[in-house]
Amino acid sequence: MAVNTQRTGMLLIISGPSGTGKGTLVKKLMDSDPSLRFSCSVTTRAPRVGEVDGVDYHFITDEEYARLVADNRFLEHATVHDHHYGTLRKPVEDMMQQGHNVVLDIDTQGAISVMENAEDYVSVFILPPSFKELRERLVNRKTDAPDVIERRLNNARGEVQQAHRYQYSIVNDDLEVAYAQLKTIVEAEKLRTNRCKHTITD
Ligand code: ADP
Ligand code: 5GP
Repeated sequence: MAVNTQRTGMLLIISGPSGTGKGTLVKKLMDSDPSLRFSCSVTTRAPRVGEVDGVDYHFITDEEYARLVADNRFLEHATVHDHHYGTLRKPVEDMMQQGHNVVLDIDTQGAISVMENAEDYVSVFILPPSFKELRERLVNRKTDAPDVIERRLNNARGEVQQAHRYQYSIVNDDLEVAYAQLKTIVEAEKLRTNRCKHTITD
């Protein structure tokens, strides 16, 4: 087929309460799509069992975080559930310039800041089917102490009130259904004419 396709990278913002399934959905998406690159955030929270520095997060100290803020190195940063998190500007810009689609798994404060400043993005909010189910997922995940789970559940109420600010929202009840919906959004958004220019020949 004599079709030449030129693509421009997409900035995909994914948010939702802790335990709603963002990480699970993002992993499935990344495994299925080599055009995607995950933006590895920095955080001052402690690594969970199984988390790898430089893969899940860059785990840093409060002092290192303060230095990055002072040096204006963040695309966005926020304090979430009592810890600091941030997206480094440079790696995201580099990946976008290389034409990759970059995935940000960030909280609502960070997402709103990116949406207010970025020219082009795709934003998706992931809802749990209920707060009861959210609690069960956090408990069953076995990564957080009971007081941490309570804090995250309390914050979830405010976070879901921000869902209307996003372009898309998905309820992650059946994982395969939610994944198919996310995949559909990504595939459609890749075909927007500002991100995908097809040239055909005789
Ligand atoms: P988040 O990244 O939003 O904090 P996770 O991806 O870690 O959430 O998911 C939280 C827990 O819920 C995990 O144990 C995960 O396996 C589970 N989970 C994710 N999606 C579903 C779903 N649709 N149904 C049931 N459990 C789910
Ligand atoms: P967790 O501690 O469960 O990995 O993440 C807690 C929350 O922090 C989630 O809502 C997640 O999306 C958010 N988060 C992770 N990285 C970043 C980041 O770089 N910036 C912002 N603003 N939030 C982040």
